[in-house]
Amino acid sequence: MTQATIARAVQVSGIGLRTGAISDVWLEPAAEDAGVLFYVGDVCVPARVDAVVDATLATTLGKGAVRVALVEHLLAACLAAGIDNLIVRLTGEEVPILDGTALGWLGAFARAGRRLQGAPARWWTVAAPVTVESGGSHATLLPADELELDVTVDFAHPHIGAQRWTGRPLASFGADLAWARTFGFRRDAERLQALGIVRGASLDNTLVFDDDAPMNPGGQRTADEVVRHKALDALGDLALLPGRPRVRLVAHRGGHALHHALLRAVP
Ligand SMILES: [Zn+2]
Repeated sequence: MTQATIARAVQVSGIGLRTGAISDVWLEPAAEDAGVLFYVGDVCVPARVDAVVDATLATTLGKGAVRVALVEHLLAACLAAGIDNLIVRLTGEEVPILDGTALGWLGAFARAGRRLQGAPARWWTVAAPVTVESGGSHATLLPADELELDVTVDFAHPHIGAQRWTGRPLASFGADLAWARTFGFRRDAERLQALGIVRGASLDNTLVFDDDAPMNPGGQRTADEVVRHKALDALGDLALLPGRPRVRLVAHRGGHALHHALLRAVP
């Protein structure tokens, strides 16, 4: 199996979750062994765990003073689309939230097409299980023949509670995970909006839970939409590895910070 990039450049526009401002993204083909590279002006920020500078609400990469926020949904779609090498040019410092899912990115990769390259694909695995724990959360990476996820959440909320998603996400990404929306809680939203952290958040891009029910018209897409979005986010964080993952990720009450700590803990 060989590496792949996209066949032609495509543009995607949308508002940023943090700024609320429209930003444009260009996805462009990249050379063999380049990996995924974000460009803000002339500054190149690689999609690697050692470039992570923040994990509050979303995965943010950085170099010097430059930031690239909310990379995870784009990176999850990139992994699922089988794209190893990609240039992502941004006009702002965050990837647009679009509709809060990975569907827009999957569509962009479909429009862009896939071009095989000559170099052999790079794979990445662990030699032995690696576990990290934090508070009531834990995550483990185990060797596997194919990428597998086993993700559980446990929210003390009448519409969420304990949920689990387990499966092979690359084969079933479009059907199982790509449509699951970013979610949050109204009580947090008011505080975050007051702080100016989520100016772009709305019911168009976020599944928002009131104290007893979802506020979005139509409610949840499935009763387990929350854990499916968690699995989508986990996939996006695994895309920060330097190769296609051949691991099983078990994550309980995880989040971006826990995922990054796990990747960093691999010897
Ligand atoms: Zn997400």
